[in-house]
Amino acid sequence: MMQLRNEYDVVVAGAGIAGISAAVKAGSLGASVLLIEHYPFLGGMSSAGMVSPFMKSVSGDKELVQGIYKDVEKGMRNMGGMIDNGFYSWAFRSIANHLLHENNVEVAYNTDVIAAEVENGRITFLSIATPHGISRLYAKQFIDTTGDAQLVALGNFPWLKGDEKTGKLQALTLFFRMGGIDVQKTAEYSKQHKEDFLPWMDFQYDFSRIISIAGYKGLIEKAKKEGRFPEDVDYVFFTTLPASGEGAFNTTNILGIDPSSSGALTEAEKIGHKQVAQIVDFLNRDVPGFEDAFLIDTAVQVGVRETRRAVAQYMMTGDDILKAAKFDDVVARGCYGVDIHGQKDEESRMDDLEEGAWYDIPLRSLRVKDAENLMVAGRCIGATREGHAALRIQPTASATGEACGATTALAVKLGVALDDVPYERVREELKYNIE
Ligand SMILES: Cc1cc2nc3c(=O)[nH]c(=O)nc-3n(C[C@H](O)[C@H](O)[C@H](O)COP(=O)(O)OP(=O)(O)OC[C@H]3O[C@@H](n4cnc5c(N)ncnc54)[C@H](O)[C@@H]3O)c2cc1C
Repeated sequence: MMQLRNEYDVVVAGAGIAGISAAVKAGSLGASVLLIEHYPFLGGMSSAGMVSPFMKSVSGDKELVQGIYKDVEKGMRNMGGMIDNGFYSWAFRSIANHLLHENNVEVAYNTDVIAAEVENGRITFLSIATPHGISRLYAKQFIDTTGDAQLVALGNFPWLKGDEKTGKLQALTLFFRMGGIDVQKTAEYSKQHKEDFLPWMDFQYDFSRIISIAGYKGLIEKAKKEGRFPEDVDYVFFTTLPASGEGAFNTTNILGIDPSSSGALTEAEKIGHKQVAQIVDFLNRDVPGFEDAFLIDTAVQVGVRETRRAVAQYMMTGDDILKAAKFDDVVARGCYGVDIHGQKDEESRMDDLEEGAWYDIPLRSLRVKDAENLMVAGRCIGATREGHAALRIQPTASATGEACGATTALAVKLGVALDDVPYERVREELKYNIE
């Protein structure tokens, strides 16, 4: 049985894909690492949120994210839990467990960070709550991958939340999975009713691969008039999963909620489950191909796209994303565009980069402003709301996590402050991530 020590080289808070990648990297470079997680399992949004597929990380012929992200992909494919970019949560948890174990990372489940003691811009210790009580945890370096920038907030470092002008936060979604779908039949229906589907669909289906379908607007309009479809949901969006006839539904649309408080999350769960029941009933009754389909499961928690994010030494902007900015201190790269799931009275946006284009992510966007020994990755990254809307996806979260793991482990190894870790050295350690 694992006994928690009270001191480590690097403590990573939050075991989503960003935290897992950070911990694995730091562990692989010889640092003693503790990964703390609120749930009794790994994965965050990739698991509890049931989010699949992995969004785009290839532009033209360039695979922009390699490293631990590729190890995760390869492991899931080998166990039959992933094809193309679609995967199961169980496969994610399994490979994450393996990688952490292989790299000597200790993991503390059922553990919440509840306070941070800071002296002169340096976190000295965290207070953690476990089923056994509250204790102190000391480390040389800390990485915040809680998704909600919890360490940043607890340490009274600067953070932002939502749109700079309106304060709006992206919509929430409770994912669900269905089985027994006649995918060919429903795809055929989409070809015959193209006007009812979203403009990005090309209707060229290869049923040996993951396919995405988004629409059924005409049928939804009718069901809404009859009062049996959620008013806030405009279309059904699903991507198929490795097993035949299964789909992951990114469809519920929970509006008007700031998911930073537990009361608001309770409300979101209530709305999400009500929407799932109505949508499944609609699919069974109205949509060709879903006559015999059934609900397999809902996600453990409502998916949260946006809460707090750190103020970093450099804030990535929407312009940086869309103009494919390049930086001297690049430590990760991405090509996903600005994707904002709009709120009430707010249009949704999806602004893509040109095929073949990519942007750099600078080390400074992972360095929390005024913090000596705290870095951020994944959803906590330092960016404007638009920048964040592009950088929040799983491949980028993994790449930024890995960069934090390398930087903190190097600081420990070289015995220097984060400011004195040369970004060239970080890139050397990420050699298969950055050319
Ligand atoms: C509905 C939805 C659809 C999406 N669709 C896609 C998609 O199709 N493709 C894609 O690539 N991305 C998608 N994303 C984005 C992506 O899933 C997330 O942004 C990404 O997984 C975030 O990873 P993360 O590691 O930064 O944070 P998270 O996965 O949120 O992990 C944070 C972890 O920290 C833990 N934690 C929080 N606070 C504490 C604390 N105080 N103490 C201890 N532990 C704590 C949490 O329990 C959690 O496990 C989607 C997101 C949502 C919500």
